[in-house]
Amino acid sequence: MKYDLIIIGMGISGVSAAIYAQNSGLNVLVLESGIPGGLLNKINKINNYPGHAEITGPDLSFQLFESVNKLKIPYKKAKVSEIKIEKKQKKVITDIGNFECHFIIIATGRKARKLGLEHEENLLGKGLSTCALCDGNLYKGKDIAVVGGGNSALEEALYLSNIVNKVYLIHRRDAFRAEEALIKEVREKENIELLTNRQVTELIVKEEKLDKIILDNKKELEISALFTYVGFEPNIEFVKNLDITNEEGYILVDKNYETKIKGIYAAGDCIKKEVYQLITAASDGVSAAIHIIKDIENKKIH
Ligand code: NAP
Repeated sequence: MKYDLIIIGMGISGVSAAIYAQNSGLNVLVLESGIPGGLLNKINKINNYPGHAEITGPDLSFQLFESVNKLKIPYKKAKVSEIKIEKKQKKVITDIGNFECHFIIIATGRKARKLGLEHEENLLGKGLSTCALCDGNLYKGKDIAVVGGGNSALEEALYLSNIVNKVYLIHRRDAFRAEEALIKEVREKENIELLTNRQVTELIVKEEKLDKIILDNKKELEISALFTYVGFEPNIEFVKNLDITNEEGYILVDKNYETKIKGIYAAGDCIKKEVYQLITAASDGVSAAIHIIKDIENKKIH
């Protein structure tokens, strides 16, 4: 069976595109290798998505999945390994088989960037975490540290400060990228200690768990956990053969969200753009879908 449109990724961007594609009668398929919502599942509080005064990431993810089910949008759990272009047809190669289509929207989002320190990979789940919402409760009453100076690091440091005894917030500069309101809140929080102009240089392991960390001034911090929020990298391993990314790995698209390859679009956090927010990811997905819908209507590809 040949699909009009395959959407890769069931985060907010992919689901937004899928809703419009399904409502316009396209023969659409959504592929997702993980859980619906993607990184959204790691966000503890969202208060900047219109229509929800406040909602957790997992709850919003659940609502996205409810939309998929309510609108009977076809989806499959599948890991995409490659996209092949054969004349005007596109073939999506996955671990459960191959799928042919006319159009593709890549909406695979981003993953947490690593600090690049020894033991980082092995310590995940053993004192090192990229998800305060998932792991915060394991460290009730303990001392922990958060690394990063963006919105994520400050928001999650605040969330953790209500669970743990003390939070060290370690940032490599003294100016933060985060919004002013968050910086103010963090500064006013009694159990958050700011360690600015500091970098984590070593993770010390004891009995296969994180024991302590060492900073660039040689200071040792005895902590039960380190939460890293040092930005993100796009999930684009499967498009490496297409040469559609910039040097940082973000997919380059035009104003219609189409890549330089006709019929392959990209939307959300995996593209190069100015603003990475939930609302803009949703908007990217919708714009990409509408351009495809119009293209199909104009050319009567069916
Ligand atoms: P970000 O804004 O890219 O910030 C990453 C932080 O990590 C920066 O402070 C950076 O330091 C630091 N960093 C990067 N590599 C590092 C390394 N190797 N060692 C130590 N520190 C390192 O990432 P984010 O906070 O996850 O936010 C990503 C996007 O999502 C942003 O556009 C943000 O506004 C958005 N977001 C929005 C909300 C919200 O609206 N409430 C919440 C979360 C995220 P430098 O500053 O020195 O580069």
